[in-house]
Amino acid sequence: MNIVLLGSPASGKGTQAEILCNKFGLYHLSTGDLTRKLMQTDPEMKKAYTEGKLIPHELITMHVINFLSHEKPELTDILFEGFPRFIPQYDALDEFLKQKGDDIDAIISLDVSKEESVKRISSRRICSNCSENYNLTTKPPKKDGICDKCGGELVQRPDDNAESVKVRFQYYVDNTKELIDYVDKKGKLTRVNGERSIEEISKELIEIVSKVKEGADA
Ligand code: AMP
Repeated sequence: MNIVLLGSPASGKGTQAEILCNKFGLYHLSTGDLTRKLMQTDPEMKKAYTEGKLIPHELITMHVINFLSHEKPELTDILFEGFPRFIPQYDALDEFLKQKGDDIDAIISLDVSKEESVKRISSRRICSNCSENYNLTTKPPKKDGICDKCGGELVQRPDDNAESVKVRFQYYVDNTKELIDYVDKKGKLTRVNGERSIEEISKELIEIVSKVKEGADA
């Protein structure tokens, strides 16, 4: 089963992706995490990321397809977080999976307003070691500034500043909304209201994915 989870910046994609992966045993493929790893050795990518810009879509597609072909060719149950974000990324992934006799089973869009997105970003923290996400109001760590999972230091993401957030939201409007319309026409899209508690959202997402799984297993 392959699920795509889309959403604007700070829509809660990372948190919900983790819940779904634990619940359904899916592999969590986050292109945000991939970008944060690649930029350690790529100053140009780091600059684009920090300014809130998207990485050229072909480059991210190439890394994802390479990873799936060479590093994890055995993977069959994947949750894609933040990928695809553009129509060509969707088409490339769809074609790659179809060649393997596989498919994108569902695309879920987690919807939050720009105002909510900006509000959440100011209280978001990320573990500098394992990338676990926190929110100082809705999902705080047990110990101030320390990751519950690995003890790493919690920091603000370099792209979580007011200027970058505006840029990232605009990219979302310009590219991802177009993709959302595209997959909606294919009948694969489910929209979920992301402006609720983590528990309420995950309950709905678990119901959606359970149904998709029933269909995929049938
Ligand atoms: P995220 O953690 O999903 O908010 O992604 C953080 C950043 O990673 C984005 O602002 C982009 O710079 C980069 N990125 C993640 N996914 C993609 C993608 N599918 N295409 C291009 N850039 C991406």
